[in-house]
Amino acid sequence: MRVIQTISELRQWSRLARQQGNVVGLVPTMGALHAGHISLVREAKTGCDAVAVSIFVNPTQFGPNEDLAKYPRTWDADCALLEAEGVDVVFAPMVEEVYPPGAATFVEVEGLSSRLDGQSRPGHFRGVATVVAKLFIAAEPDRAYFGQKDAAQVAVLRRMVADLGLPVQLEICPIVREPDGLAMSSRNRYLSAEERQRALVLKRALDAVAAAIAAGERDAEALQAVARASFADQPLVKIDYIAAVNWATLEPVEQVRAGDLFAVAAWVGTTRLLDNFIVSNESPQLG
Ligand code: AMP
Repeated sequence: MRVIQTISELRQWSRLARQQGNVVGLVPTMGALHAGHISLVREAKTGCDAVAVSIFVNPTQFGPNEDLAKYPRTWDADCALLEAEGVDVVFAPMVEEVYPPGAATFVEVEGLSSRLDGQSRPGHFRGVATVVAKLFIAAEPDRAYFGQKDAAQVAVLRRMVADLGLPVQLEICPIVREPDGLAMSSRNRYLSAEERQRALVLKRALDAVAAAIAAGERDAEALQAVARASFADQPLVKIDYIAAVNWATLEPVEQVRAGDLFAVAAWVGTTRLLDNFIVSNESPQLG
């Protein structure tokens, strides 16, 4: 497995791979890898011939009072995991490689970037769109793999790729969960044992909403009330949002339909956690 730190070397690798007839896949991550990330890597290995995983804790997607400095960095363990998966390249640039001195160019996906997580984290999706655009320009992948866990991010990136006409196919992978249902996240390691238990309320709330949909409820406000009721016995968990939205526009819907996104975000102590599912036609499917 090759570790690459510069954009020019990454592009050289990707172009050579493509010249040799290979389909190139990219899996962008911030490291601190878990089974959710690995599921993306496996999808990439299945769908592509040459796979690069980027590990870059992107400073521009963190707000001034967020966890950039303490974000977990587990380089050796990450490399061991990726090596075992047969990944070809780990792209791990320094911040100055991605943002050269004086960098003043950003990608702003208007509207979408200020909804859901973008509303509580101003500037977050601007940072995400910018870094992902830079990764696409550097790696020139045929396919790029993202998790449905960050469903609003998926909507922002789909819009960006369509608007800029970027020649990359986005592949969205289902949410990987701990055995008790908690969606895997690099931030789960911030949780104390007690908080870890409390965090289960996100999935419980989504299960209750899914059950209500299965029973025929389609009214978004009623469904949001069902979710809110699940949080009632967890006063120490602070709801950030409970939203039923169109997955493409992130605009609220009044009645949920197949393909809509039902998403929750909540603070468990100082840790902000996300979870969601996409409403399906037959039985509601928890991703
Ligand atoms: P991150 O390192 O948190 O930026 O995540 C990198 C990629 O992994 C993103 O596309 C995430 O959506 C995806 N991801 C994170 N957690 C999970 C999970 N539990 N299941 C599936 N994908 C995930």
